[in-house]
Amino acid sequence: MSEELRELYQEVILDHSKRPRNYRTLENAGQAKGNNPLCGDKIAVFVSLEGGVVTDVSFQGAGCAISTASASMMTESLKGKTREEVESLFDAFHDLVTGKDPVGQGKGELGKLAVFAGVKEFPIRVKCATLPWHTLRAALDNQDEAVSTE
Ligand code: ZN
Repeated sequence: MSEELRELYQEVILDHSKRPRNYRTLENAGQAKGNNPLCGDKIAVFVSLEGGVVTDVSFQGAGCAISTASASMMTESLKGKTREEVESLFDAFHDLVTGKDPVGQGKGELGKLAVFAGVKEFPIRVKCATLPWHTLRAALDNQDEAVSTE
């Protein structure tokens, strides 16, 4: 990675960690809490689905710059996606931060999330970057349950 690119990546991550997007709760939404004891990150993720499509995602919590920026950018990436599209994007993101070459449908969808490529050089930070996504998956399951009881 070039020095310029590295700086750009750091700027985007810093910006999102200082001014997280979609930092709020959602009413009548699937929700789950996530916790990364290695770093002390705690997060709650809220997700609304309509007809199997994500209509809104938000989060709250306290964590390091990486987990906060990852959550913030995740919430900006998911609106309009189906559960399957969310899963393939998570797979691609997971490959990206663990240093594997992302494959499959999600690869082309990463967009701005590509700034997290630098995380692979800091294995302890991988859990920070993926915590919001694991929590989102639990929130989606929670939503599924809520829907199935209707
Ligand atoms: Zn962290």
